[in-house]
Amino acid sequence: MGYKQYSQAQLLKTYGKSADKVRAQLVSAKINLGVAGNTISLPVHKSIKTSLEAACKNYRNKVKRGEAPAYKLLPKYCGSFNWRNIKRPDGSTGSTLSMHSFGIAIDLNSWNPNGQGKNAKSDIPNPELVKSFERYGFFWGGKWSGGSRDPMHFEYAPLSFAEVVEVFKVTRKGGTGIYAKASAKAAKPGVYAYNKTIEAKRQSGSWVKTGKGYVQTKFLKAS
Ligand SMILES: [Zn+2]
Repeated sequence: MGYKQYSQAQLLKTYGKSADKVRAQLVSAKINLGVAGNTISLPVHKSIKTSLEAACKNYRNKVKRGEAPAYKLLPKYCGSFNWRNIKRPDGSTGSTLSMHSFGIAIDLNSWNPNGQGKNAKSDIPNPELVKSFERYGFFWGGKWSGGSRDPMHFEYAPLSFAEVVEVFKVTRKGGTGIYAKASAKAAKPGVYAYNKTIEAKRQSGSWVKTGKGYVQTKFLKAS
């Protein structure tokens, strides 16, 4: 599976052109991975909150069914938004913005033991947690090779996946506040398969024709 993210130009256009523009679009996402009372809040770009929380819920359901271990989060060692350039494996700073700049990347338990680098240890439940996150469009940094390997890191990169389940709230002409798939099929509340063309349009906030008229694929505040 290859890694594919939007270009810097697309990222700036989609998520905000400056630290302040991104900051103005941050909302609080609740993250709990199956340990009772261990819920943390992280500021993320409003366009990924729904998908991120859905990924966590998907994992919690696995924990409930006994298919995955509950994963305890250390609040002090979890992070998200940070307007900065990427860090290279050698510790130097790269010339492009990190996905943390756009509020679309999170780090879980950066200390003990999810370090960065080729031989970094990781206690991220893999593959169960990674699969839950991938299902909703999040790439795991533990899959980068060599010194770039970054097991604490998850970022929203739906183009990396052939199929991503996407949950998003849209406005429909003549009606608002629905979860919908922008496709030829009826738009109704639910969780639907990812479609690359629709995703591109959603990111741009344009109108997509569906069997039930036009769906504006612009994010509202997730409920
Ligand atoms: Zn990170």
